[in-house]
Amino acid sequence: MDITQTGIDKFKGTEKLVRPKTGCWEWQGPLNNYGYGVVRASGHTWLAHRVSCFLSAEKFVDDLCVCHHCDNRKCVRPEHLFQGTVTENHEDMQHKDRLKFGDGHHWSTITAEDAAKIRNLHKEGSSPDSLAARYSITPEMIRLIVRGEAWKRAGGPVRSKQPQIGETHSQAKLTWYQVRDIRSRAQGGETNWSKMAREFAVTSLMISNIARGLAWKDPDALVVAKRVQKGSTHSQAKLSDADVAEIRRLRKDGARADAIAIKFGVHFQYVHRLCRGDRRKSS
Ligand SMILES: [Zn+2]
Repeated sequence: MDITQTGIDKFKGTEKLVRPKTGCWEWQGPLNNYGYGVVRASGHTWLAHRVSCFLSAEKFVDDLCVCHHCDNRKCVRPEHLFQGTVTENHEDMQHKDRLKFGDGHHWSTITAEDAAKIRNLHKEGSSPDSLAARYSITPEMIRLIVRGEAWKRAGGPVRSKQPQIGETHSQAKLTWYQVRDIRSRAQGGETNWSKMAREFAVTSLMISNIARGLAWKDPDALVVAKRVQKGSTHSQAKLSDADVAEIRRLRKDGARADAIAIKFGVHFQYVHRLCRGDRRKSS
């Protein structure tokens, strides 16, 4: 694993909250969009549980996944982590069906029928996050399923390639006109990405990537994410009380936190904090 000493120091220096019931060591540092802890240092981002496994494992294999026995994405306790290939991970999950680990955690497994259904629902526009919640598996597993890397023979439409970057890619389903349309709508404040995803017959993730300029990078196109700064430099102070109220209303109406974050130019975690009332209580 290619990690700098600063990254290692940061991992070691970050507080981990011990959960007495499960024994999990929950990462108190930043989380990524999927709820996994991340270490940010020297301009890089590493997955915290991967760093933990790297530091504690006798033999760390870069090509293998680091998986959670405990199904707790924030957990960085080495004893709760294991390395495996996607297939091994999946087989492991099947073998450990119903195995209790700690208190209240158990392995969630799906059937081939579920996998095929997940592929169909994803094609119809359901986001990996919503499918993950529905089937009690990780969004990463959902992505592996829709790409055909897990549950290979289960049937259902398999997306053969990773996100399309630009019109020349053979998998591209959009035109530049549509991309500009998506961006200007996102910039205009549209936050319902699943709706746009259905409209344009792409995934919500793709809409999000387009809005943030991560896919279909065109220097002339509007990129809404320009205002969003990673880390702590974003100016949260510029939100008026009306903005805060609007953010809470949108979130309550079911808009995605990352879509709201882009609209208001703040970090998505700040949106969560606002909605929990951890910030701007009186607004
Ligand atoms: Zn754990």
